[in-house]
Amino acid sequence: MTDIWQAALQDLETKVSSHNYDSWFKTLRFHHQEGRVAHLVVEDAFLKAWVEENYVDLIEESLTLAAGSRMRVVLSVVGELAERERSLDVAVVEPLAAREARLPTQHDPQTSIFAPAPSLPAALTPAPRPHAARQPEPIHPPMTPRIQAAPPQPLAPQGPCFEDAARDANLNPRYTFDEFVVGPSNQFTHAACVSIANNPGTNYNPLFIFGGVGLGKTHLLHAIGLEVLRQDPSKRVVTLSSEEFMNQLITSLRQKDMNSFRAQFRNNCDVLLIDDIQFIGGKDSTQEEFFHTFNALHNAGKQIVMTSDKSPKELPGLEERLRSRFSWGLIADVQPPEIETRLAIIEKKAEAENITLDKDVGMLLASSIRSNVRDLEGTLVRLSAQASLMSQPINVEMVRQHLRRMNLEQDRKISVDKIITRVAERFHITASDIRGSRRTRTISEPRQFAMYLARKLTDHSYPEIGRMFGGKDHTTVLAAFRKLEKLVDKDTDIARMLRELELAVGR
Ligand code: ADP
Ligand code: MG
Repeated sequence: MTDIWQAALQDLETKVSSHNYDSWFKTLRFHHQEGRVAHLVVEDAFLKAWVEENYVDLIEESLTLAAGSRMRVVLSVVGELAERERSLDVAVVEPLAAREARLPTQHDPQTSIFAPAPSLPAALTPAPRPHAARQPEPIHPPMTPRIQAAPPQPLAPQGPCFEDAARDANLNPRYTFDEFVVGPSNQFTHAACVSIANNPGTNYNPLFIFGGVGLGKTHLLHAIGLEVLRQDPSKRVVTLSSEEFMNQLITSLRQKDMNSFRAQFRNNCDVLLIDDIQFIGGKDSTQEEFFHTFNALHNAGKQIVMTSDKSPKELPGLEERLRSRFSWGLIADVQPPEIETRLAIIEKKAEAENITLDKDVGMLLASSIRSNVRDLEGTLVRLSAQASLMSQPINVEMVRQHLRRMNLEQDRKISVDKIITRVAERFHITASDIRGSRRTRTISEPRQFAMYLARKLTDHSYPEIGRMFGGKDHTTVLAAFRKLEKLVDKDTDIARMLRELELAVGR
């Protein structure tokens, strides 16, 4: 049945916009089947109400198609099923966060190899041209699948061609320059990207964009590709994450088909857009192959753009020759946006999604959510859904409630800092010892204990934990976790000590 659910998900993905797919369908989990009824689990009552109200018919349609016979859907909230799970003796559904935390690396849903098939909506909206009338996609599209072709665009003669090219290049049509809000935090990088899109391969080559999570790196990367293709749909743009590069490489090696792999990147590419290059750190053969790809493209005057969570200097496990090449062109960073930019982003997203937004509400959101734009956007989408469920506009009280809930969740979470502090206390060393790089046993062992606990007790990915341990590579955290996982089974002293530490962290 899980196969059928996967097939249904794939079908759903082609019927709704990628935004709605990410917001509503990705969080659904198949639980069990009873005859013709599929039981699905959602995270909370709000999601349940929203999906029931808007999407059950569509889900049933896709499930029926996948199963080959009429299927019905029953939704439950995770907690509600706990009792039933025991009596039915079915596997307990893992909380979503725990599942995601177990994925081997932190990743971006738009480009991840772990995500289902590329999430371009079936009807690709052409990139809005400057001054052209925008046709914002409603946040909650009608129930009818969006399978009809995009309406003809009289002002864009290269329309259909551009669409095909953008789709083939794996570009997210929402990530245009037009949709990107420029402020002091990203002005420089934005200008560099626009310049490159207008004259690929001439000015800054390669462009290396780095910065924290959710600050618009992937958006800018795709905007370059979209703009290049808008100006000339015959340009060959290749977009992929470094993990996808590695996976394709492995497949080609296995199938002994290195020639077509090389041709794809070296001969059939004018602009190479590589997202999250940090993941090639420590992967020697991938780095070797990427080195040759880089050289071939660079020598031929083809444009290369990369994004990363760190600057080339700080990237762990990167070969020196790549580090120096990454610095040949221009290195540009994106910083967290200032409040004015955050406000402008909220207003822009609200406009694009047809959400009515009070100035007060916008201001409250912009002043409260500072970490990253993805959270800002996610909150707006949730609030808007909640508001339309209650048939009223988003008001300040709703935002406050939402923020309180978020804060409570934050407080309940065990932080990596706390784990490091408690472990340091227990072994009479300092937190900086743990975050530092000294390898004496009195320090390296407690460091491994702390890494193990951080992985076990928090939702952070290996790369995130590595960063919080003073910029260690994710493979170091992985190795510590695996080693202790084995030891806990064999060594009762260690198991007891770790249990005590867990208790101390929970206090
Ligand atoms: P990153 O790759 O840096 O982790 P993304 O490019 O995926 O971040 O951005 C996360 C979300 O925030 C995307 O939906 C993107 O469109 C949006 N976003 C980020 N920065 C901006 C901005 N300056 N203007 C408009 N949207 C933005
Ligand atoms: Mg990204």
